[in-house]
Amino acid sequence: RSGAVSVAPILTNLQKDCATPFPVLRHVADAMATDMRNGLAIDGGSDLKMILSYVDTLPTGNEKGLFYALDLGGTNFRVLRVQLGGKEERVIDTEFEQVSIPQDLMFGTSEQLFDFMASGLAKFSQKEGGKFHLPSGRTREIGFTFSFPVRQLSIDSGILMKWTKGFAVSGTPGKDIVACLNEAMGRLGLEMRVSALVNDAVGTLAGARYWDDDVMVAVILGTGTNACYVERTDAIPKQKGQVSSSGRTIINTEWGAFSSGLPLTVYDNEMDAASINPGEQIFEKTISGMYLGEIVRRVLLKMAQAGDLFGKSVPEKLFSPFILRTPDLCAMQQDNSDDLQSVGSILYNVAGLETNLSARKIVVEVCDTIVKRGGRLAGAGIVGILQKMEEDSKGLIFGKRTVVAMDGGLYENYPQYRKYLQEAVTELLGTEISRNVVIEHSKDGSGIGAALLAAANSKYP
Ligand code: ADP
Repeated sequence: RSGAVSVAPILTNLQKDCATPFPVLRHVADAMATDMRNGLAIDGGSDLKMILSYVDTLPTGNEKGLFYALDLGGTNFRVLRVQLGGKEERVIDTEFEQVSIPQDLMFGTSEQLFDFMASGLAKFSQKEGGKFHLPSGRTREIGFTFSFPVRQLSIDSGILMKWTKGFAVSGTPGKDIVACLNEAMGRLGLEMRVSALVNDAVGTLAGARYWDDDVMVAVILGTGTNACYVERTDAIPKQKGQVSSSGRTIINTEWGAFSSGLPLTVYDNEMDAASINPGEQIFEKTISGMYLGEIVRRVLLKMAQAGDLFGKSVPEKLFSPFILRTPDLCAMQQDNSDDLQSVGSILYNVAGLETNLSARKIVVEVCDTIVKRGGRLAGAGIVGILQKMEEDSKGLIFGKRTVVAMDGGLYENYPQYRKYLQEAVTELLGTEISRNVVIEHSKDGSGIGAALLAAANSKYP
């Protein structure tokens, strides 16, 4: 069978299965709020772990001194230093370095991964100079951002529950990751101290709050996804005996594990089954950067096998998992030319696909379908969090300015995704309330945020 005709039903079915009309969004937002409540009630009460962050005091702007931050994300490893000058001078200077995480370390041993981080930190700290200054007799303090699910034991310790985002490092789950880092620093003779272990969403919230008192929620949309928010300590039944002087604490939702009522397709189910964590992180697999390209690849493979839309035979490359990446989808969606020239060259270079204009148009439709679903579901998740907060404290969110701090490469770089997310939020909240809900990018909030939390939890008062 030939060309566009043979794949038309595949596209139509995809669009039907991925549709996110108002009732679907409404259900996702409500289920998110319910799951949050259940996760706060008892450990294991829902898909959402609702982890206590032990961050009870948010940055005020008075923080002073030199602090480091270290960030293990899904794709990159970053180190940063910041010299804080208090209310007047704020951030005096900041420097950072970033390296991509070598593929083999994602499947290696715990020692290899932590040695890699410690040596990156050692090299970076040796280059300290200029406006950065540590008072003599002090140990350099670090805010350690670790973007995987951790059972936090205190502000400076926590146990890795499981790896996500394609990591399968042996020997870390069940261990205190601060101890792992300390041991690696010890092996190198590097003397630094982790004062705060923070999730990247928590770091983003802290970093954004430093500049804006209305920040109540932070969301990461990068390789993976997560969200956190400011909760009342009296609304956390599972938290026994711990008190926070402020009466508030940040809850790390680990919302990537959410799964209720999502519009999933056969492609999602097959991708999940082939993943290293089948049945887990379903929301993350539907909305985050690691997976959007792979879902599209699976659709295109199905289309290529169904007819000759992409030529007589299916190119070998198209069978490779994760060969098509989310940045490729993004680049294709920015092509406004009449002949979709860049779409054509991306498809050829990345997947070996030879395409005519009608094929390219279909591919762009497929990308848009998957990205629209992702963005809209992320928006519904955000509304779920706001709704939960408002239900517990009337007037806390609705009717006044509230900021949702966003970070991560997907949100930062994909304009269509951002637009779909915002549209879903507006649809769910209505134009009036959504005018007061500001969803804004917080550039490198999490790095500075971790350093700020190291400052807030410094052993030198
Ligand atoms: P991490 O989540 O690994 O800590 P980032 O927040 O920088 O790191 O996010 C990186 C992810 O962002 C990539 O895996 C990719 O999915 C997504 N991304 C990066 N660049 C783009 C882009 N141009 N368009 C769409 N998504 C992008």
